[in-house]
Amino acid sequence: MKDDIKPEKIRCDACPVMCYIAEGKSGACDRYANHAGELIRLDPLTIIEGGQQQVVPFLPGGGTDNWDGDIIKGSRPFVTAVGAGTTYPDYKPAPFIVSQDIDGVDMVTVVTEGIFSYCGVKVKIDTDRHIGHERDVVRVEGEPIGHVMTSEYGSKMLSLGGVEHLTGGSKKEGRVTCDALMRLCNREPVTMVIGEEDAHPTEVVLEAGKPPIINGVTERLMRVGCGSATIGMFPKKWLGHADEVVVVDDHITGVLSEHETGKQLDVPPTGIKIIGRRSTPGRYFQVANPGTGWGGTDIEDPLTILGPFNPKIAWEGLRLLMVSTTGEQYAYFELDTDLTPQPHPVPEALRASADLIAENCEPSVCSVLFMAGAGGSLRAGVTENPVRLTRSVKDSLTHVSCGGADAYVWPGGGITVMVDVLDMPTQSFGYVPTPALVAPIEFTLRASDYRTLGGHVDQIKSVDQINQAEARKVARNERDHDPVAQGNFRWARKP
Ligand code: SF4
Repeated sequence: MKDDIKPEKIRCDACPVMCYIAEGKSGACDRYANHAGELIRLDPLTIIEGGQQQVVPFLPGGGTDNWDGDIIKGSRPFVTAVGAGTTYPDYKPAPFIVSQDIDGVDMVTVVTEGIFSYCGVKVKIDTDRHIGHERDVVRVEGEPIGHVMTSEYGSKMLSLGGVEHLTGGSKKEGRVTCDALMRLCNREPVTMVIGEEDAHPTEVVLEAGKPPIINGVTERLMRVGCGSATIGMFPKKWLGHADEVVVVDDHITGVLSEHETGKQLDVPPTGIKIIGRRSTPGRYFQVANPGTGWGGTDIEDPLTILGPFNPKIAWEGLRLLMVSTTGEQYAYFELDTDLTPQPHPVPEALRASADLIAENCEPSVCSVLFMAGAGGSLRAGVTENPVRLTRSVKDSLTHVSCGGADAYVWPGGGITVMVDVLDMPTQSFGYVPTPALVAPIEFTLRASDYRTLGGHVDQIKSVDQINQAEARKVARNERDHDPVAQGNFRWARKP
């Protein structure tokens, strides 16, 4: 008899790919492996314990170095879905359905790693600099993964991923999109190119919680406000030191003497002429093209936005300050006998006013919000009657969290959630090659409500039955609510 018979491959049934995995190997997503004929989830289950520390970095093997046991002693654990695994097909109960007594109330948390093909990220980039026009395509490795959407105050916004790119394009587009989303959500830097090759594309490097790098330059500040707002905020710093102040901004450029602020502070007209579309007095749109220069425009020389001064009003020696909305660029001019602005050293008081604008700007960071819809498989893993889970969430009887972090649930149909990836434990995200993202999601509710909505009550385990010795333990993020706190639920609120 031959004794070199190859051990049988085992089949992973955690997602539709259904990998056959040989002994000692892992499946296509690197999340599951065949260990001595047993299918195991490679990353440890993550448990949040109360305390004052921030979430600690992932430690391979589930170790707890850097973990201050004294601080967390006696606190109650919360079993997150990070490392919990997935179930497939849909009718199977979630991997963990955990019960716990919380302040005398029997609570249940249904824990699963969801496979999301309807998912993407919204990225908020705190910068005035032009990164692309609304609807411009965002590419990684030449593949379209999303687009620029409407700017918000002081920030540019991207919408990345979604089924349109994950499954609606070519195979490569789906793979690249999935990989970019996963890296962004796991707080890694991703290099993207915005706009078309023949139309001055912008290269951006984005990483959650870090400043964006735009065409090789690391952004520092988020503007204090638009040019008009800046005029309204700091006029008293300029009175007596400048006769005219122009705050250059891609959105609204402000002019002190014409602005209501200047009128109320008795700043006389100066005969200045701004090249741009006048909105209301002292407020101008479109003084230049968007760019990476002054105030998010494409100008490096601020005088290019000025027309000739009106000789009937302006005077020789008129003092003019031009400054950007982040205070990073500023210049001082005086009119010569021809009423042409001539550069002069910036007086100390005006330099201090620019510093004050800069001081009032917040640091520029990228915020990455994961957004996904909990569909059939997820909801069926919670209850045999999935629509009841949706109603329970809308009725505030079920609280939704992602890796223990607060998830905003969108109004309207379905369970569409949005969560800041920085609030989640590190390495919360994975993928399957369908392609789709794997992300943790937990549903917490009273045991009595779980029974009412037709939950898989025969699968409930006490939290004490969960093998915590092998788990990765992380501290509660102070910014998040406790997912099991009674304040999350309608029944605990006063009428
Ligand atoms: S891709 Fe991963 S989860 Fe899906 S079957 Fe293969 S090993 Fe299992």
